[in-house]
Amino acid sequence: MFEKVLIANRGEIALRVIRACREMGIRSVAVHSTADSDAMHVRMADEALCIGPPSATESYLSVPAIISACEITGAEAVHPGYGFLSENAQFVQVVEDHGLTFIGPSAEHIRMMGDKITAKETMRALGVPCVPGSEGGVEDIHTAREIAGDIGYPVIVKATAGGGGRGMKLARSAADIDAAFSTARAEAKAAFGNADVYIEKYLANPRHIEIQVFGDGKGGAVHLGERDCSLQRRHQKVLEEAPGPSIDEATRQRIGRICADAVARIGYSGAGTIEFLYEDGEFFFIEMNTRLQVEHPVTEAIFGVDLVREQLRVASGMAMSFGQDELELNGHAIEVRINAEKLPNFAPCPGMVKTFHAPGGLGVRMDSALYGGYVIPPFYDSLIAKLIVHGRDRPEALARLRRALGELIVDGVETTVPLFHALLAEPDIQRGDYSIHWLEDWLERNLQPGAPQ
Ligand code: ADP
Repeated sequence: MFEKVLIANRGEIALRVIRACREMGIRSVAVHSTADSDAMHVRMADEALCIGPPSATESYLSVPAIISACEITGAEAVHPGYGFLSENAQFVQVVEDHGLTFIGPSAEHIRMMGDKITAKETMRALGVPCVPGSEGGVEDIHTAREIAGDIGYPVIVKATAGGGGRGMKLARSAADIDAAFSTARAEAKAAFGNADVYIEKYLANPRHIEIQVFGDGKGGAVHLGERDCSLQRRHQKVLEEAPGPSIDEATRQRIGRICADAVARIGYSGAGTIEFLYEDGEFFFIEMNTRLQVEHPVTEAIFGVDLVREQLRVASGMAMSFGQDELELNGHAIEVRINAEKLPNFAPCPGMVKTFHAPGGLGVRMDSALYGGYVIPPFYDSLIAKLIVHGRDRPEALARLRRALGELIVDGVETTVPLFHALLAEPDIQRGDYSIHWLEDWLERNLQPGAPQ
């Protein structure tokens, strides 16, 4: 096992990794920008090093700065968290070239899944069900019209290099395809430097269901069931739950096995998530994330495992500490992402947190880097806390979430907590009856400026 690990991230996910390291007797190194000198991850790690100015490009995304930090501190391995450099194959290569270990999959697997056309082709060949669409990229408008006509409208034009919901354009009918094709290409070129696009059937009312997989890098892999992440705003997840309210045990085992077999066959190493749209009992692969997800704690809660611990074990060459047969699903877990944002427009609201009180009690987990007196800097993501609750069943988890949200105090900045209070009062949410469009529709009806609140 490693003696010292550097965490190339900040905020709650840096704390998450530091905590796992400490429990395993591994020394942790935090890196930070000048804007984060007083951040909790800096205080909690065994060592900390300033690696640059506030701009992420010059600090958390600076490969030379992070490699130098490893050399200065003698860290043997790097945990990337999520975001920043976590899915950057070039970074993985540089880490390895310096004789260090990247805690995550190989550069080859990151590259394979980072290009969505390649990812889809690979998954299809491995027997994973995909959204009907073009075989590979679509290069000219004539082919685009032909393929869209064959698939049947509505279709969605998507960037192969896309991410964060960008580079996607909907064509409802043949009249829209020319515009959708050319704007998607232009936006993809501007945002990702790669204009390649592909075309998919647009699913009208699916759920977003994702399968947590974990590979040992030696041809073995397990799945840890699904998470339902359908509640999204602008393609960003807002609330996640596990198990999915629409998935039964037989379905879970069937899709879980397909996913575990697929990653086992490519020799995948570490944590990964295979994302699907799920409609009328059918799964359609959309993409694979080759890292730990923000919402991993709901899976940890229902299976009673520590996914970061497993990442550290596998990256250091040890075996995983459980096999598929030892994984038993227990109860229900829900996570809400609390952002420092002002409703109804979700405008970022950085500033000083005067008072902070975290909820507690049975089945409550709070992953947050906040403390009273902390100043949330304006330079980074607005996620300030993840509240995760676990109950024996879904109604108990919902009641616990309501209770825990009521105990939470964050004074000084606006947060998205009132949104969750409102959502919990909705019968559709109580029943678990929502698709990927539910939240946007609800926000339009309830949270637009001037709408009754
Ligand atoms: P990104 O990498 O940008 O997150 P994804 O391919 O994961 O892109 O898609 C993000 C979201 O966009 C999905 O969760 C879903 O809400 C919507 N979406 C993507 N593809 C389709 C499709 N074929 N039909 C309907 N909605 C889609």
